[in-house]
Amino acid sequence: MHFNTRKPAWRLLFTLALWGLVALPLLAQNSYYFPKTKNFNPKIPTPEQFLGYGIGERQTRYDRVVAYLQELDRVSDKVSFETIGYTYEHRPQVIATITSPENHGRLEQIRQEHLQLASPAKAAPALANMPVLVHLGYNVHGNESSSTEVSMLTAYYLTANQDPETQRYLKESVVFIDPALNPDGRDRHTNWVSMHQGNPAVSDPADREHNEVWPGGRGNHYWFDLNRDWLPLAHVESRNRMEFYHKWLPNVFIDFHEMGTNSTYYFEPSKPYSSENRLIPRSTYDGLNVLLAKYHAEALDELGSLYFTKEQYDNIYPGYGSTYPDFQGGVGITFEQASSRGNKQENSLGVLTFAFTIRNHLATGLATVKASVENRETLLKHQREFYQSALTDGRKNGVRAYVYGENYDATRLRKFTKLLLDHRIEVYELEKSQRVDGQQFEKGKAYVVPTEQPQYRLVESIFAKTKEFDDSVFYDASTWTLALAYNLPHAGLKSKGALGKRVTELAPVTPLVPAQSHYAYLLDWADYNAAGALYLLQDKGVITQTVFKPFTATTASGPKAYQPGTVTIPVASQKISSDSLYKVITEVAQKKQIGFESVKTGLSAKGIDLGSNNIQTLRKPEALLLTGQGITSYEAGEVWFLLDEQLHMPISKVDLTSFPRLNLRRYNTIVLVSGAYNGLDKASVDKLKRWVADGGTLITFKSASEWAIKQGIAQGKVVSVRDTASKDLRIDFADATPTEGARSVGGSIYEVDLDISHPLGFGFTNRKLPVYRNSTTILAPAKNPYSTVAQYTKEPWLSGYVSKSNLSKIKSSAALLVSDQGQGRVILFSDNPNFRGIWYGTNRLFFNAIFFGSVIKTPGVAVATE
Ligand SMILES: [Zn+2]
Repeated sequence: MHFNTRKPAWRLLFTLALWGLVALPLLAQNSYYFPKTKNFNPKIPTPEQFLGYGIGERQTRYDRVVAYLQELDRVSDKVSFETIGYTYEHRPQVIATITSPENHGRLEQIRQEHLQLASPAKAAPALANMPVLVHLGYNVHGNESSSTEVSMLTAYYLTANQDPETQRYLKESVVFIDPALNPDGRDRHTNWVSMHQGNPAVSDPADREHNEVWPGGRGNHYWFDLNRDWLPLAHVESRNRMEFYHKWLPNVFIDFHEMGTNSTYYFEPSKPYSSENRLIPRSTYDGLNVLLAKYHAEALDELGSLYFTKEQYDNIYPGYGSTYPDFQGGVGITFEQASSRGNKQENSLGVLTFAFTIRNHLATGLATVKASVENRETLLKHQREFYQSALTDGRKNGVRAYVYGENYDATRLRKFTKLLLDHRIEVYELEKSQRVDGQQFEKGKAYVVPTEQPQYRLVESIFAKTKEFDDSVFYDASTWTLALAYNLPHAGLKSKGALGKRVTELAPVTPLVPAQSHYAYLLDWADYNAAGALYLLQDKGVITQTVFKPFTATTASGPKAYQPGTVTIPVASQKISSDSLYKVITEVAQKKQIGFESVKTGLSAKGIDLGSNNIQTLRKPEALLLTGQGITSYEAGEVWFLLDEQLHMPISKVDLTSFPRLNLRRYNTIVLVSGAYNGLDKASVDKLKRWVADGGTLITFKSASEWAIKQGIAQGKVVSVRDTASKDLRIDFADATPTEGARSVGGSIYEVDLDISHPLGFGFTNRKLPVYRNSTTILAPAKNPYSTVAQYTKEPWLSGYVSKSNLSKIKSSAALLVSDQGQGRVILFSDNPNFRGIWYGTNRLFFNAIFFGSVIKTPGVAVATE
């Protein structure tokens, strides 16, 4: 069905009546959503006129939302429409900018002046004539769908309403309508609800309409939570948005959400202190949040809608859409509306309709615009002072600069530096090589980040470790030290010293294409891109091997030392000619931006030669990932995303329910992320055991590792955290939340000791490795001394909250185990090595498991021969 404004209204009504969807007479939409507004410009189409149905009567497909905003751009000089990028499923990410025609005429000037607020070194701009910038960000969680509908009504209201108050808003503000932060997830949910919508609509919570199938519409294409990605920027949607964000630095950002159907409405302030970030000035929380809350309360009071504040929803992690703006001199605010999750659903107060949820979000969103305009100078001044205090706080900081570097892996170093630049952090080249805290930082392979800079607060978030907390309950992580996630050597400096050249963009990589060899090529495994290069070679049918002992090769450019894990490509053993192989090597080097070396002789200058028994032929991974109801969709999505994004390697995603009749013969690698595998019956468990014994590599994370041990698929011992968690037999009801919070591990960082001579440790140059833990899966070290590949150190705690009791159990426990089973093996992680797609330190362990699993033969284990 397509409608546009030129079609007569009776046709619209007639068609709607046929569909039985006309709950309200045409144009009555406005009287429900805007009962007080009488002066709408009739030339501006309402969403209802444009779409052919009233907002709230059904879920609007994302392309229709985009089309409506484009239509407003076409018919009004108050609206401009732009595309800021594309999602993985190639939906456009769009922004409608709404302001007065006069402001539209000088938008670039407004932007330039506004950005001066963030440059304390520049003179302060005159605030009197500066518009305030308001960014309304809708629907980051795809299945919280009311707010995208709100985006259309809000855009309509601001464009069509001719009353003086709205004209003042347009004159004194620039409003960015960001209709869906997660278009792919939004449409997944829209399709689900639409295909199940009854006529009449069914309010029974058990109806299919209200219960999406796994993985639901919350995440993006790769099932990630984009409302955790503002800091790590793992995803294209976030990177596109970040570009736009820093182009404008809005004063207010609203992050629209939905929560449980039985709830009411939530807006900030969040829980004082314990839910707030210590780096953010108190004026944000005690001043701006409180100020704006009055307007939001007033809007909901007028509607008679219930709400709450202060009790929950943390505001600590800069990766949230409502927290990142606090780190940029703005104020970020979460709105949470009880979800009808569909068109209407019963709740404890009666029946919650989609239209009601839309109306609440609409009212608070418009109240935000009003509040921003009425407090325009306060907000602008706050932003200016925020960046000024960033300089003074950075100057007062004990650490005056962070140095970071990486001597062996140029790719990981680049990725991290790119992240800092994406956040507009000032980065400088290291002026001269130096040793800090026992680590060697080499000029050309290390950078310096001074704390005295406008992005001081983000710098601290990315580099500093946190061990002090106001509370033990975390909605999410309690630490996000990205320098640890990237496993990059880094250190704090007491003085910023002499800085090298400022880095504003990364120089392009010129991969080392070797001379053609008729004997062999070598690929150093220390570079992060080596795994992707290896898969590409294997996919092209190239025979690849890996070395287990160090050696010094005689290369064209002289003797060069290589570590275990180095991939060797013997020329004469290939099925293709030497010339064809050389073409492949050249192509892979360029595509993966990585260097190869060529050797003319197998005789090494030192160590093993290239025909040694300490070199094993690798097999190309054919991987399977179990998915579906009960499996943690985030972890499954992280596996899928990493293999796609970093390795360009396919993985079959198979539903758990299909497992019993699945033929496993085509797979040599199976990944079980955490989740409930109880649905697999004994025959399925036996099938998995046989497959491992026949040579398969089974990789398990967290609770899947526990399950594999309990089912006897792998040998091991699970340590219970529950047994001595509390000696108190009786605890007050009111203390339940802090008590239970202290028992869980809500996301913290630890140090493990990694056996870098083991195939799973290949490519690592340092035995100490930071790992991320957000579960209470604790595994005992293996009986076989060679099987505990990574072990928590005796003093493992690096950053984040942990209770004393949990820490004592985590100490010296196993982080990574191998259990040889017949011809195959189970590789058990106690944690998720792929957390949020950016744990570049530990996700290399996962890559090693995929590529080197088949060549692990643990000493001391008798291997059955065929
Ligand atoms: Zn949400």
